[in-house]
Amino acid sequence: MDIISSAVNLKKKCKEFNAKTIALVPTMGNLHLGHVSLIELAKKIADIVIISIFVNKLQFGKNEDFDQYPRTFRADCIKVKKTGADIIYAPEEEDIYPEQQIFRVPADPFLSSILEGKTRPDFFSGVCTVVHRLLQITKPNLLLLGKKDFQQVAVLKEMIFRFKLPQKIIVGEIIRDTDGLALSSRNQYLSNEERKQAPILYQTIKNIKNEILNGNRNFLDLEKNGIKKLEDSGFCVDYISIRNSQSLKEPFSTALNQLVILSAATLGNTRLIDNIEI
Ligand code: AMP
Repeated sequence: MDIISSAVNLKKKCKEFNAKTIALVPTMGNLHLGHVSLIELAKKIADIVIISIFVNKLQFGKNEDFDQYPRTFRADCIKVKKTGADIIYAPEEEDIYPEQQIFRVPADPFLSSILEGKTRPDFFSGVCTVVHRLLQITKPNLLLLGKKDFQQVAVLKEMIFRFKLPQKIIVGEIIRDTDGLALSSRNQYLSNEERKQAPILYQTIKNIKNEILNGNRNFLDLEKNGIKKLEDSGFCVDYISIRNSQSLKEPFSTALNQLVILSAATLGNTRLIDNIEI
């Protein structure tokens, strides 16, 4: 496995490989089994797998955790090596953004203004800017993304479509802890007490899914009751929202299927997101 920190060397290395299929798994490091499952999926379908590790300043808001975000590069390298992946691309800031970023790649105005985008207005343009740049450097055929960030997948699909980029997006399932909590680098911010409460987020959206499958189509009530349940359990809720899983719009008819329940809530200082498809 090669560890490369400059775009020039990475481009050279990729040429050397002369591979048919290159897959890129973009990450911010602090790798857990969710990342590893994406890398393993990539290994199955591509000749060369590149994992990028870059904590992207542009996608953090002013009061967010950029400085505090866990950086565990050595441990990450060991985990990636075990998967048999080919390259870790761990650039310095200047390699990704040689100049101060005056321009950003804008995200779709609708997709980036709802749900996560409402609370984090610059988040998705930060994601689009870094992923666009990473695609430019690594020129993969496949881009692997996790369903954990459901809205992010929708935004990046739209970016690839609008720019007519050649990459195919492959989406990996959400990997969860045994108690249902979706794995996330931010879970380690939780205190012991908060960690015990955290799986209630998944239980709540799973209950809503079951209610819908049992014929309850009163979406507003389901959302309201879910929010109340979380608040009673100590969460500060940003949203629980039942949406069309393709467009992320509110379903215009409660009879429709192809739904996803998206949620974001804070426990103490830790913001958790989760979702479940129907
Ligand atoms: P991050 O390092 O948080 O930017 O995540 C890098 C990639 O891993 C993104 O495509 C995420 O959606 C994906 N990912 C994060 N957590 C999980 C998880 N629990 N299961 C599957 N994929 C995940």
